[in-house]
Amino acid sequence: MTIPFDNSYARLPDTFFERQPPQPVKAPELVLLNRDLADRLGLDADWLEGPQGLEMLAGNTMPEGAEPIAQAYAGHQFGGFVPRLGDGRAVLLGEVVAPDGLRFDLQLKGAGRTAFSRGRSDGRAWLGPVLREYVLSEAMAKLGVPTTRALAAVRTGETVVRDASGRPGAILTRVARSHIRVGTFQYFAARNDRDGLRTLLTTLIDRHYPECETPLEVLRAVAAKQGELVAKWMALGFIHGVMNTDNMALSGETIDYGPCAFMDHYHPGRVFSSIDQQGRYAYARQPQVAVWNLAQFATCLMPLIGDDDAAIERASAAVDSFIGVYQGEWLRLMGRKIGLAEATEEDLPLIEDLLNRMATEKADFTRVFSALRRDPKTAGQEFTEPMAFDLWREGWEKRIASEDDPRAVMEMANPLRIPRNHRVEEMIAAAVDGDDGPLHRLMEALADPYAEDPRYASYEDAPKPDERVFRTFC
Ligand code: AMP
Ligand code: MG
Ligand code: MG
Repeated sequence: MTIPFDNSYARLPDTFFERQPPQPVKAPELVLLNRDLADRLGLDADWLEGPQGLEMLAGNTMPEGAEPIAQAYAGHQFGGFVPRLGDGRAVLLGEVVAPDGLRFDLQLKGAGRTAFSRGRSDGRAWLGPVLREYVLSEAMAKLGVPTTRALAAVRTGETVVRDASGRPGAILTRVARSHIRVGTFQYFAARNDRDGLRTLLTTLIDRHYPECETPLEVLRAVAAKQGELVAKWMALGFIHGVMNTDNMALSGETIDYGPCAFMDHYHPGRVFSSIDQQGRYAYARQPQVAVWNLAQFATCLMPLIGDDDAAIERASAAVDSFIGVYQGEWLRLMGRKIGLAEATEEDLPLIEDLLNRMATEKADFTRVFSALRRDPKTAGQEFTEPMAFDLWREGWEKRIASEDDPRAVMEMANPLRIPRNHRVEEMIAAAVDGDDGPLHRLMEALADPYAEDPRYASYEDAPKPDERVFRTFC
């Protein structure tokens, strides 16, 4: 098969990337291939699954038309600015234009050291994070959240050392509408490279915002995309974990699944990431952090927007426009979760009251909303004090009495199955032992997360006390 590459990023000035073929691996073995995604991209799934496809997915051979590069970017990591990050372990093979005309990046993550790898970092990934990203990103897609996708996961047959222990190496093939990040703009801004900034902005507009003509319009459009995205995360109990500016894609897709997690017990302050000791990226802080990241993006654009007071004011307003979009989308989504086709601000107290009760009574986020759609009388069981829920239910039932079909609304808004941490950890432990059964079952269970399916009932279970995961690692 020939892959119809059209590599627009590799045609940009060479300050944007370093040319870098993937480093070959010893004994590649396919773990998962996403046949639906291959079809969607217009790629031949049978070929990808065969020996030649495997060699490409492992980075051992480059198909005709590929122009592997490591992309340059900078970023604020936990608030501290790093002027040069870049793809230290990922290589962009190139771009394909799908049959429907949409352009996608094909990237190998874990493909070996690049010019951006720092110190003794190995440029590799181990099987755990690769499978975590595969499962989580595909689950997000099925849940209806904009996200990068996973085309394949391969074992490399090599060992990667993490925390002084040897782990099986792996490579993820990531598919994204692009890998342009806030950090990509920061890279050029930090170098006072105005031409670079202009070229990058043109690239961003061509690729994602063709309706925009000025940097200010782009800023507003990006803020709106992020507002919608973060609201969707919140409505699913999703915590990204590492919302550094280099992990915010300007396409509006969720990107870089590290120590991310879906909450079990609801609590606004919930943090899972082992590297987030201050709780900077806690669940309820995500909207504020998005605004902070957007402000960094705006700062990069100022040389193009202008630096007089009026320009600064307009840029600030554009950043703040996130808030209105976010709040509107959050209200709409949370309203739907309690069966309201079109919630208004008057419904806010009802929604907030439920969330407060859930936090106080340690209720499982997903299970409460599942119970609401199925049989609200059973939802109280999810609360340490069922009465706390029953009191809320009285007011709620009055409110939904005037709705046409609240159950139908909730069935589309409340997933039954999410990739729960204990299931993800169990899947990784088995795969490390060479058993991919739990991985395949988990993928099946998450393929249609809103649909009733008794075969996967156990995937709805909250973790037992001894199964609870408190920390996630990248
Ligand atoms: P991440 O934590 O994946 O968002 O990555 C942050 C930065 O660290 C990026 O520049 C990565 O390319 C780099 N990085 C992460 N892990 C590795 C690794 N094993 N080898 C080289 N660079 C890495
Ligand atoms: Mg990253
Ligand atoms: Mg990364």
